[in-house]
Order: sequence, then structure tokens, then C-alpha cells
Amino acid sequence: MSIIVQKFGGTSVADSEKILAAARKAVRAQKEGHQVVMVVSAMGKNTDLLVDLARQIHQDPPAREMDMLLSTGEQVSVALMAMAIDSLGHQAISLTGAQIGIKTDSTFTKARIRSITTDRLRQALDEGKIVIAAGFQGIDEGFNITTLGRGGSDTTAVALAAALHADLCEIFTDVDGVYTTDPRLVPDARRVLRISYDEMLELASVGAGVMHNRSIEFAKKFNVPVHVRSSFSDNPGTLICAQPESSDQPVCGAALVRNEARVTLLGVPDRPGVAAAVFSRVAARNVAMDMIVQNVGENGLAEISFTVFRDDLPTTLKAVEEATREVGAAGYNYDDNVSKVSVVGLGMATQPGVAQRMFQVLAEKGINILMISTSEIKISVLVDRDAAVDALRTVHEVFQLEVPPACESLEAAGVILAGRAASAAVNNTAEIVARMQGMEDLIIEGIALDESQARVTLVGVPDRPGLAAHVFEQVAAGGIVVDMIVQSVGREGHATLSFTMPQPDLEKGLTIAAGLAKRFNCGKPTSCPRVAKLAVSGTGMRSHTGVARRLFQCLADEGINVDMISTSEMQINVVVDGGQGQQAREALRRKFADVML
Ligand code: ASP
Ligand code: MG
Repeated sequence: MSIIVQKFGGTSVADSEKILAAARKAVRAQKEGHQVVMVVSAMGKNTDLLVDLARQIHQDPPAREMDMLLSTGEQVSVALMAMAIDSLGHQAISLTGAQIGIKTDSTFTKARIRSITTDRLRQALDEGKIVIAAGFQGIDEGFNITTLGRGGSDTTAVALAAALHADLCEIFTDVDGVYTTDPRLVPDARRVLRISYDEMLELASVGAGVMHNRSIEFAKKFNVPVHVRSSFSDNPGTLICAQPESSDQPVCGAALVRNEARVTLLGVPDRPGVAAAVFSRVAARNVAMDMIVQNVGENGLAEISFTVFRDDLPTTLKAVEEATREVGAAGYNYDDNVSKVSVVGLGMATQPGVAQRMFQVLAEKGINILMISTSEIKISVLVDRDAAVDALRTVHEVFQLEVPPACESLEAAGVILAGRAASAAVNNTAEIVARMQGMEDLIIEGIALDESQARVTLVGVPDRPGLAAHVFEQVAAGGIVVDMIVQSVGREGHATLSFTMPQPDLEKGLTIAAGLAKRFNCGKPTSCPRVAKLAVSGTGMRSHTGVARRLFQCLADEGINVDMISTSEMQINVVVDGGQGQQAREALRRKFADVML
């Protein structure tokens, strides 16, 4: 029999009417012939109220007690939901995380799921009951109650769907799906019918959060189709699954992170271990770095730029001061008035020219690009905060994100439930049970080495609108398909721009770059005829902080110098000298052996 997991967020169970409405949805799904597991959050803003209450008593409440307190919000909801189902004449049983057997580690307030036992759930389902599971909570080895972090009910829902090998996980919420961008900023934004896990992960990481990111990592890892939809209507929403919405559209969404700050270390000695030293200083202060970009600068000196949330800037600068001294950098500068605009799409991995189009339209609008970082399926640019919304609208328009693909409904697209059916054949029970151990562990899916590329770098280019557009227009006109692009801020008013391309194109690339350097009146371009690009990709790379640090430390220990860096949600790309690619890959494989797929 098919199993459906239905999750209702706080706004969807905010009062008794809404609880009854949710109960009716579950009963209807059961009548349609499914076994139904509901996962519910605390009512309305109850979790916030509990947090406030704790703070009135203690400035920094013990984390264990915090979890004991916060878990009660969900306990209220599940009991009321079970009563609601009963009042409709159907059988239900409510269960806490501990009663279900959701085992977690002991990191109170942000615990990770280790395993889930499904016996009790299955038995209740087989007895014809609707099972109502408390979201966001579990229990550790010592029988202490834990919680999974704010918004964690999404993760509970997807995890239960994975453990039960459910056919579908429905997330009922106060938005009706995933949009191409924030409709409050871009009125033309459109709800997408379908989006792939990777696109959703990247979009969430660049500011378009609809769900707890860990829940998407989970869904991807266990191939759970997730349907995000409104709890206040019966309209279909957005299906998150393995396939993208359209195979012709290179971009599926755009997003904005408004309050960022950029920090750049200038004149950094370009030798092994420098990146590792900087990142470990910042990580030690518990600051998450967002965009990370390293560029080969002038006279063998590198620049390392990164962004953080603006609120984290004061703490970050303390770490940067230490790092500057430690690595012997010339100095640092920062800008706390910047925003990040990104476009995401699986299609850009195969369709060239997406970055160039983005740079071009921004140039036409006179919007200056301060920093660029690209990955296989994402391009991010940093711009002045004043220009950010305009930049977002501009890219949304140029990639025609408001235009729906040919088939206009999920049913017509034949996607609902199709995802699971396809995967069911692959996964046998033993395999699933084996994977349930350490459900939320970091997984490195691959360490790819590409030795076919060369690098060109323009240094000391006057930083003004249209710079990147001009460079990549010339490069594209020369028939060169660039792969990785990194732009960072150099000394006052100057930028550094590096890109990689196939080795046979290097000569052409250099000629073009020399022409550009003459025009810009800047230094001679530098290049490397044979670089090695290493792409470390995986799941949970960002939520498991410290992956980047481990990676850079590993390269440093091997004495391997890093030329270029760019990071994304699922990938860290580094460029090293072509002669050291194999050594780097072997070292990284050893370093990450414990978490390799
Ligand atoms: N009630 C918890 C929170 O507000 C968990 C959740 O809603 O997902 O964060
Ligand atoms: Mg610029």
C-alpha cells in the first residue's frame, strides 16, 4: 500500500479551525487509499513564545532544557490533531519523537538524526490508523529530548518519508510553492511546477528558502519526492524531485541575499596553507562564510575575498585581523553595503553563455559587479545594496523566468508520484536499512579532477560597470567556452578577473586578454597553460561546517598551492597547478575516505 507523509507547519495548525482543516486533508488522503503519516509543527508562533519565555528567565538557557521546553510545542499539536481526526470518525495515534524512535546525536538545539525505527509506525498504519508524529524532535542515547533546529519539522517529515520508503512527502505551508524568485520583489515571479533537488539546494543557499535546507539534503540523499503546497487550497504546488522543470531553460530561479558584507585580504603571500589559515580563523569564531573567492593577484600575491552576513562582520574582522598578521598579508578591506544576486539552473552546466548574458544585462543597466563566483549550476555576483533589487529584476527578465514551460500542470507533466516509482526498483530494503545508520552524515559524492583546462588572469583592471560583460563578450566572440569564473576586488578601484578554458584555446584567450589589458591600461595578463580543477561535491557540505577548512588544510599539508577557489552549496572548486592535480585528488580522497559515497 502506498504511504504518504503530510507535514503541516505552524501557520497551518495555528487554531482549531486550521487543525480540523488539516485533519480533513489527511482523512481524504486515507480515503483515496493511502496510509497516512502526519508531521506537525507547534501551533502558530508558539515556539517563538517559548523561546521568549526562556529568555525572560535566563539569558543563555542550558541547551538541554531548551529542547525539553521547545519540544512541548509539538506535543500540544499532535495531541490536538489526533483528537481532530477522531472527531471526524477516523482512527489516529499521536507519537512524540522518542516514541517513534527518532534517535539523534546529543547536540541540543540542533541535533542530527542518526536513525529511525519504523516498526511502531508500520504497525499503527497497518491497523488503519493515521499516525501523527511530532516534528522537530528526537531522543539521544541517554534518553534526553533533543530538537533538530528551528524549522526542523520539514526534516522530520522527509526523514520519516525516507525511513518508511513513502511514495510522497507533502509539505503544507503558507506559500503555494517555490517561485522563480521572491514575488514581493519581482511581481512577474512564477510558481514553478517542478524543481530538482540540486537547484532547490542552491536556491535555498542563495536566499530563496521555502524549506529547511537539511530536509532537501535528506530528500536528495534518499530520493524522496517532495510536494510543497498551500494548506489553504487544493491547488498543486511545486514538486521537488530529481528532474528539473524544463530541459531547455538554462536558469530555473534567481535570488537575493540582501544584507551581506565583503571582506578582502590583500597582498596575501601565494603559498600553500594560506587559505587554510584564513578560513580556520573565521570558522573558529563560528562565522559561516558565504561566497569564497580566491584569485591570483599581482606579483605572485593573492587576494582572498569572502562574504558573510552583515551582522557577523564585527566578529569576522577580528578573525581577519589575526589572519592578516599570521599569514603576512599586506592588509584587508571590507564593504558592508553589498548584496548577492544569484541565478541557478541545471541547464547552465550544458548551455554556454549564461554568465555572459547575466553580466551583459547588468552592464546595460549600469550596475557594477563587485565580485563573481560560479559553479556548475550557479552564478553569483555581488553588487551594491542600492542596486540589488534592480539587478534581481533584470536577470529575472533576461532569462524569461516568468514564462512557464509547455506543459502547464503537474498532472499533465506526469510527475506526481512518478519520481518514487522509478527509484523504488533500485532500493532494496537491506540497502535502505544500511543507509539509515547515520542518516544525516556528510556525504562526499565525488572528487572530480579536470586536467584539460588553462587559466588566464587579468589584474588591476579598473572596476566599473560592464567590465565582466566586456571581457566575456570578447572571449565568447573568440569562440572560447569558459568554465570557472572568479572576480574579486583588488586594490582601490581595481578588480582581478580569472577564468579557465580548454587548453587548446589558451593562445586565443591570451591574445584577447592582451588586447583587453591594453584597452584597460592595466598590467600584462598572467596565465597558466595547464591547471588542474578539483571539484569536491556532496550533500551536507554546507550544513556540516568545516568541510572547506578540512579541504584547504589537506592541500596545505601536501604543500599544494591554491590558485583559484569558488564555492557553492554542493561543491567546492579549487584550481591548482596542472602538475599537482593527481596528488591533490589522492590526498583529498584519503582525507575524506570516511565520508565518501
Ligand atoms: N516549531 C519549530 C520551529 O518553529 C519547528 C518547525 O516549525 O519546523 O522552529
Ligand atoms: Mg565591477
